[in-house]
Amino acid sequence: MTVHSPIDPAATIDADPAPRRSTVGVGVGNIMVGGGAPVVVQSMTNTDTADIDATVAQVAALAKAGSEIVRITVDRDESAAAVPKVRERLDRLGVDVPLVGDFHYIGHKLLADHPACAEALAKYRINPGNVGFKDKKDRQFGAIVETAIRYGKPVRIGVNWGSLDQELLTRLMDANNELPQPRSARAVTREAIVQSALLSAELAEEIGLGRDRIILSAKVSQVQDLIAVYRDLSRRTNHALHLGLTEAGMGSKGIVASSAAMGILLQEGIGDTIRVSLTPEPNGDRTREVQVAQELLQTMGFRQFLPVVAACPGCGRTTSTVFQELAQKIQSDIRINMPIWREKYPGVEALNVAVMGCIVNGPGESKHADIGISLPGTGETPAAPVFVDGKKSVTLRGPDIAADFQVMVADYIERRFGSGQASE
Ligand code: SF4
Repeated sequence: MTVHSPIDPAATIDADPAPRRSTVGVGVGNIMVGGGAPVVVQSMTNTDTADIDATVAQVAALAKAGSEIVRITVDRDESAAAVPKVRERLDRLGVDVPLVGDFHYIGHKLLADHPACAEALAKYRINPGNVGFKDKKDRQFGAIVETAIRYGKPVRIGVNWGSLDQELLTRLMDANNELPQPRSARAVTREAIVQSALLSAELAEEIGLGRDRIILSAKVSQVQDLIAVYRDLSRRTNHALHLGLTEAGMGSKGIVASSAAMGILLQEGIGDTIRVSLTPEPNGDRTREVQVAQELLQTMGFRQFLPVVAACPGCGRTTSTVFQELAQKIQSDIRINMPIWREKYPGVEALNVAVMGCIVNGPGESKHADIGISLPGTGETPAAPVFVDGKKSVTLRGPDIAADFQVMVADYIERRFGSGQASE
């Protein structure tokens, strides 16, 4: 029989991501992006910005859900005129989340005609693919950059696969055709995306905008392309990077694609801020994209936003719905209460709760959590041991196991994170 040493020297024992790539930090309102700051979660509204009530409500909801920066569409005079009013209303509500204006085609004009909008926004997003065409392109791009300099604002130069600078792409395609062994059209397109971001950043810097005022993004809709583009971008510049898979899609498809692409990049130390672009269901909740972004960062160990509930998947041993209902109830209680808990219980986001379906892994997993319950599986005695800080505390019985456990979780939070917390 082979006797294994306790740790095989050849085994991979590190379980950490690569160090974060060093980037130049950019202040967006009161939020730092890059420069070693924690990866920032951001989102975008889907209201008509000219509808002030709806926009204020959605920005406030996104901020409450944890979005640290919120982007709004500024597509015409009415929306540009609404921006300072939206800002004012949010300030009155105590919502200080920085607002980013998303400009396309006429951003230079809207910013010039609406100085209060230029002032109220914390950042301007410019898409170099549709800032103007031919000789107007550099002039209009330059006008936005000059506005940013005048108002002391940063910009995001946000290249998008769907609106790529066609003149640049054509130039690169022509040059590629001259090569003895031309690269694929897809590879040339990726190169055009990266170059569009880098050349635009170079131009902005020549005009006088500091690198500490420029964030870059280069969004595509395919996972492998996104990984390749950002690896390349990160190798070629130290600008702060905004990650996001564009047109990620709806439901689980969008969540999986965004998580797969951004998870790999974040693991490699690439990315200073993320947005998960989910298509909501009709009348769906826009804050879902914030939740997914937070869960991605927390699952990978980059940040802690809210307590983690570990639950087993359930199996043939959990034929009643008690277990699913309790896991869901605890999870939604946490999400609902978190805005209050964040203030009242500093550090509560580090809490681990386990809700397990039966005796097989229940006691073991519950012991690893701060507080965990092992519910009785089918055929087991109807008793549920609760473990607190790794030790068995009580055994709950009867019809109110779920409610009793919820009370225990609330008591634990008060005891450990409340102002009169017990010393350890
Ligand atoms: S802990 Fe029990 S109920 Fe949960 S998956 Fe494992 S065996 Fe099934």
